Amino acid sequence: MVALTNLDDLLEDQLKDLYNAEGQLLKALPKMAKAANEPELKQAFERHTEETREHINRLEQVFEAIGAKPKGKTCLAMKGLIEEAQEVLQEDAEPAVRDAALIAAAQRVEHYEIAGYGTVRTYAKTLGHDDAAKLLQKTLDEEGRTDKMLTQLAETCVNQAAEMGGEEEEEEEA
Ligand code: FE
Ligand code: FE
Repeated sequence: MVALTNLDDLLEDQLKDLYNAEGQLLKALPKMAKAANEPELKQAFERHTEETREHINRLEQVFEAIGAKPKGKTCLAMKGLIEEAQEVLQEDAEPAVRDAALIAAAQRVEHYEIAGYGTVRTYAKTLGHDDAAKLLQKTLDEEGRTDKMLTQLAETCVNQAAEMGGEEEEEEEA
């Protein structure tokens, strides 16, 4: 017998992946907040840590709504994305350059989540799980907002500071 016989099975399987992915992210985000130099970026990571907690709660509600038990299944993609983020943290970098690299890593994570939530939202809709679809849409919207906010932070302050590199600080010392 195949493990995935229909869209219901696939929905549950994909939810397990997201549940595990969010759990991994919940542990990684505080480290990214700690490593961020720009106060606004630090705040953005802290805020998204709280949102991520809520995403996990919401996924538990979604499992319940489709009559399944909340369970995770190791998400290898998130594991890799977080490993890449951690590589950035181990690198000796100018603070603004590190911020830019943290944003790059975080946006990869958000795009991965956006793809995942878009998929399960659509499956839930197709299967008539309207309450689940609404909950998933809510999270999808928040991931989208986080992604846009990171773009804004990059464009308004971080990238320019990174372009300057260590120059700015040297000038202040002179
Ligand atoms: Fe999330
Ligand atoms: Fe997210």
